[in-house]
Amino acid sequence: MRTITVGHLEHCQLCDHKGLQTILPLGHQPVVQEYLTDKTLHEPETTYPLNLCRCASCGLLQLDYIVDPKIVFPTNYPYRTGLTNMLIRNFRALADILEKKYKLTPQDLIVDIGSNDGTLLHGFKDKGMRVLGIEPTDAARVANKNGVTTLQAYLNKDSAKKAVKKYGLARIVTATNVFAHINDVPALMANIKTLLAPDGIFVSESQYIMDIFKKLEFDTIYHEHLRFYGLKPLAKLFIEHGCSLVDAERISAAGGSIRVFAQKGKHPMSAQAKKLIAAEEAAGIYDGAMLRDWAKRILQAKNDLVALVLRCKKSGARVVGVGSPARANTLLGYTKINDQLLDYACEKSGSPKIGMFTPGTHIPVVDEKHLLSDQPDYALLLSWHIGEELMKILRKQGYRGKFIMPLPRPRIISK
Ligand SMILES: [Zn+2]
Repeated sequence: MRTITVGHLEHCQLCDHKGLQTILPLGHQPVVQEYLTDKTLHEPETTYPLNLCRCASCGLLQLDYIVDPKIVFPTNYPYRTGLTNMLIRNFRALADILEKKYKLTPQDLIVDIGSNDGTLLHGFKDKGMRVLGIEPTDAARVANKNGVTTLQAYLNKDSAKKAVKKYGLARIVTATNVFAHINDVPALMANIKTLLAPDGIFVSESQYIMDIFKKLEFDTIYHEHLRFYGLKPLAKLFIEHGCSLVDAERISAAGGSIRVFAQKGKHPMSAQAKKLIAAEEAAGIYDGAMLRDWAKRILQAKNDLVALVLRCKKSGARVVGVGSPARANTLLGYTKINDQLLDYACEKSGSPKIGMFTPGTHIPVVDEKHLLSDQPDYALLLSWHIGEELMKILRKQGYRGKFIMPLPRPRIISK
């Protein structure tokens, strides 16, 4: 595997095979975290091609256009892990699982790559272990303020060496939702190997292609996610870099993810991981015809959702969005559900997106308290992957209108 350059790709990101097949063209879209301000709302916006493609040789699903990481992850990147309850719960559970599985002790160092505001490391710190975050954005400052030691830097040769020199080798290196984001995988693997102790474990969590496939979660496709992994190509990738995928499990985070455990050197794969690979093959995620059928179902869901929202609007009803996660911007951009159709999208109090506008679709983002005082007729669940949980909370808080669940089957919920 080689370093992938910015711009249009003609070769597979994993095996270098030339000729990628387009499975799902999602149009030209802006970068999902590029929220607009009162001022930038009146400026031109840059959009980039967003196409999900398949390698005919190794089967890896990937984008065929790479946006410059400095544009995709600016230092003022508005995402904060600590604001998402489900992620907090997932990360606490991860600390418990790893402590038990690898008999971690307080001397052990845990390093998290792309550690954001330090939410994941908090779980380990509470258990008395040594922790170190590596995070390029300003979220590193929040982490340090909250007592999670964090190096504000991109993970590279220098920062990895600096970390080892100052803190020693890591028993565990974690990378949640970054493994599919980085274009220089050979360097990433080399740096992880630098950080890891000889018996160390690398734990990565990524959105899982099986969940994306089964639940039509095409909204997880955006420029941050360069590749959509099944275990089969991941296992190959680790071997290529002198490591072994030793175990894997499915978890519910981010609408369905895969947690993968790897080690330096040659080690056997667990029966559970082998079973998951067999299930991937049986489901057809490496089969071009099955994927094209999947893309057709997505197009149908899109048409149904647009028709449903238009019906609501024609009846004179008001429709708003609930949540404004990054992924919603793919859903909104692809369906063209914009500020003409949604009055606003509401976010949890404290979200840095409040007061801004969604990229491309220009929907104003407001505090979710506004939903309760405003009581619009329909609330479109933009964070539909946690839709059930959200509906319960909003009902409890007193929202009386109807909900629209956008995917996998667009429908109105009035309960
Ligand atoms: Zn390939």
